[in-house]
Amino acid sequence: VTQTLPEMLAATVARHGNRTALEFFGATTTYRELGESVDRAAEGLRRLGVTAGDRVAIVLPNCPQHVIAFYAALRLGAIVVEHNPLYTARELRHQFEDHGARFAIVWDKTVDTIADFPTDLRVERIISVDVTEALPRGKRMLLRLPIAKARESRAQLTAKPRAKVALPWSKLVRHRPLSRRAAGPTLDDTALLQYTSGTTGIPKGAVLSHRNLRANAMQGRAWVPGLVEGEETFYGVLPLFHAYGMTLCLTFAMSIGAKLVLFPKFDVGLMADAAKKSPPTFLPAVPPIYDQLARAASRGAIDLSRVRFAISGAMSLPVATVRRWEDTTGGLLVEGYGMTESSPVALGNPMGPSRRPGTVGVPFPSTDIRIVDPDDPSADREPGEEGELLLRGPQVFSGYWRRPAETADALLPGGWLRTGDIAVVSPDGFVTIVDRLKELIITGGFNVSPSEVEDTLHAHPDVEAAAVVAAPRSSGGEEVVAAVVLRDGAELDVEGLRDFCRTRLAAYKVPRRIVAVDDLPRSLIGKVLRRQVREQLLARD
Ligand code: ATP
Ligand code: MG
Repeated sequence: VTQTLPEMLAATVARHGNRTALEFFGATTTYRELGESVDRAAEGLRRLGVTAGDRVAIVLPNCPQHVIAFYAALRLGAIVVEHNPLYTARELRHQFEDHGARFAIVWDKTVDTIADFPTDLRVERIISVDVTEALPRGKRMLLRLPIAKARESRAQLTAKPRAKVALPWSKLVRHRPLSRRAAGPTLDDTALLQYTSGTTGIPKGAVLSHRNLRANAMQGRAWVPGLVEGEETFYGVLPLFHAYGMTLCLTFAMSIGAKLVLFPKFDVGLMADAAKKSPPTFLPAVPPIYDQLARAASRGAIDLSRVRFAISGAMSLPVATVRRWEDTTGGLLVEGYGMTESSPVALGNPMGPSRRPGTVGVPFPSTDIRIVDPDDPSADREPGEEGELLLRGPQVFSGYWRRPAETADALLPGGWLRTGDIAVVSPDGFVTIVDRLKELIITGGFNVSPSEVEDTLHAHPDVEAAAVVAAPRSSGGEEVVAAVVLRDGAELDVEGLRDFCRTRLAAYKVPRRIVAVDDLPRSLIGKVLRRQVREQLLARD
């Protein structure tokens, strides 16, 4: 790693200036235009007082301004903090209390929430972004996003006089470009405070350096040797505020001069429209997205015949999803594994015939792994034995923002990161993720992996999705309980489902109770939130 992120972008601009960098509802931006907008926004931020080490909060959906804001803040040596723009006022306030950013670049729909924060939060300058600004009129209405949540939650805050007046984005980028001589960051400066998904607790801010993020983009490049510089079209449908979308779209795509087509939300119709003009060749996403797209493609609603590489992560990828995708599109769908704390990708399947569906593949270049006893991480497990996965590599973070206790728990001597995931490695080095340590169910002295039971239920033709959790048993201890979403037209047959499980699983793993639900609570990236499923099931009892 020799370049910081802004240096990397400048190099791409120099190589691919005339190529399209961004496409948004048909409107395109070349790399040269992107580079210039970044320099103008950097100058605008500098004049507002942003200096090295300042936190700059970004609260935006996927849009061109998001990309520009990200690189402009980094160019000044500032630290970008990404936020889910659909978070409620309370959730956003917690994050702002944690990172203390004085500057915020905010979706105009969320400006009021931030402007009304109590004054001790020290947000001094708010820049308001109208995402539809650059779009032709006819396209603006396509952009209706689910904003009700953010609005409604404002009422939860005590009404206070508006603290800050927002500066429109168009004023920020009106300046001449930042001087080329202006100092930028160094490789070991912090680039990003990236919050974890909050699946197992409250989200924690992972401190990631330019070196961490550049390393992961370069590891990704080595992972997909078949990519052609300047010729690929990435579909940016994963949220850029999450580690996965950030690395694949903001750093990896930009490092190879790809065209990045941005989508502010997942919508098959929007993607089908975009595919007519710019067919995707590279599509990072999550299993529920692959399932829906494959269905749409098989009824001819979207052309996916040019997608050569599809990469799944963040949650386990069912083998059935791989089959359906590959049969429909003719491209590869491979699974990788990562976490926010490792920038995020740490393992991946080979991009070719030797990939192994059902596993997350092998460690990335320069990445070491160990499988250890979770109660004594100094004790290594043998291949074939389950244990906690540890990671070490140039993409691994230096700690959580202002959380020394959590950092000490997560980072072991020697630079090993505890993943909190139970995994097993085959004799030839392929890793399978079993489950999260925190979500294992202990019943009658046995460990039950909720994923294994969910996969079994999922294999039943009536079941669309399933979540398996522990519920307290009246006689003490825990029992296995499942919430299932049924396919259209199917009816809940508890005994039928339990019989189905019994022929495939040991008796103690078979859910004691199965309830039908309309939907499973998911994070914005689509992970099932088992913690919430459990709370909902307990509330029903
Ligand atoms: P929090 O740490 O706040 O509880 P989180 O762990 O979900 O939330 P992320 O950093 O977004 O936050 O997710 C990393 C986790 O996602 C991993 O620890 C692992 O449990 C899960 N994960 C990632 N990739 C895969 C995969 N391919 N298969 C199964 N699980 C995966
Ligand atoms: Mg985590």
